Amino acid sequence: MNYKAWVAKSAKDPMVLETVDLGPLGAEDVEVAVEHCGLCHSDLSVLNNEWGISQYPAILGHEVVGRVTAVGTNAKALKAGQRVGIGWYSNSCMHCRQCLSGSHHLCAQAQPTIVGHRGGFATHIRAHWAWAFPLPDKLNFSEAGPLLCGGITVFSPLVMYAKPTDRVGIIGIGGLGHMALKFAAAYGCDVTAFTSSESKFDEAKSFGATHVVSSRDSAAITKLAGSLDLLISTVNVQLDWGAMIGALAPNGRLNVVGAVVEPIPVSAFALILQQRSVSGSPTGSPVGIATMLDFAARHSITPQTEHFPLSKINEAFARLESGKARYRIVLNADF
Ligand SMILES: [Zn+2]
Ligand SMILES: [Zn+2]
Repeated sequence: MNYKAWVAKSAKDPMVLETVDLGPLGAEDVEVAVEHCGLCHSDLSVLNNEWGISQYPAILGHEVVGRVTAVGTNAKALKAGQRVGIGWYSNSCMHCRQCLSGSHHLCAQAQPTIVGHRGGFATHIRAHWAWAFPLPDKLNFSEAGPLLCGGITVFSPLVMYAKPTDRVGIIGIGGLGHMALKFAAAYGCDVTAFTSSESKFDEAKSFGATHVVSSRDSAAITKLAGSLDLLISTVNVQLDWGAMIGALAPNGRLNVVGAVVEPIPVSAFALILQQRSVSGSPTGSPVGIATMLDFAARHSITPQTEHFPLSKINEAFARLESGKARYRIVLNADF
């Protein structure tokens, strides 16, 4: 088998097309021929080694949609020809307390798809069968990639912490945030979008926001004091966190999914008196991802995307880095 992949040789290097040797297929693994793969901000962070965890040569891409081409001897549930998705993780130990509890995404041995593992900007990708998710027939396959990382990242805190009757705020209307608006609106919530970009106000409403507020306007945020049951923050920049936490209702929660590098200042009194919480969450469990895909298919939720052929991968990364992508980039395999 002639496998090819776009390979980053070292940090910040442009990716080059190479032939790769995937070796023998693991007994519990499946192999998937890649059709589409979303480009997530984490791909850029790993390419540039922003988190200090990257391993080179690196094959990035962790929002994969494709068809199963081979099934390991002990793999379950999947068969050749089936269309599946693969996200941020592609394996976990399957025997620790977290895996046995169904929280495989909290497993200490969980294998990120693009760190020490070959990702989806390639002809083929492999994953443990439990981390390759059959896609519902109703889903638009060419647009579904971004659901598998960005989508589940915002869907998880919504179903963990919000009720359909709640008022929910989404901070940052980009790749993650625009999907969060769609999920929260379909879930039944009253949705407030916070964005620094006035040019996104109308689009935020078209994605499902009932209200739109500038995330840089402390006075406008302060007017919302005590009103929101859940805030999901997707941004990686500093904000007026005091005003944001003040916008939470009693028992409200600020849940962080955006990797802001600077610490978030939290006043103990702001939490204690109104019984508020500040939390974070990563991607989701296998069952959480399957539930999200089912919900997205039922409510016709698709990310808003720009498509590039995979052969233009370096241009696509530059587009993402420029911050101009609206709202999520998907690469189409064209080997
Ligand atoms: Zn991602
Ligand atoms: Zn485990």
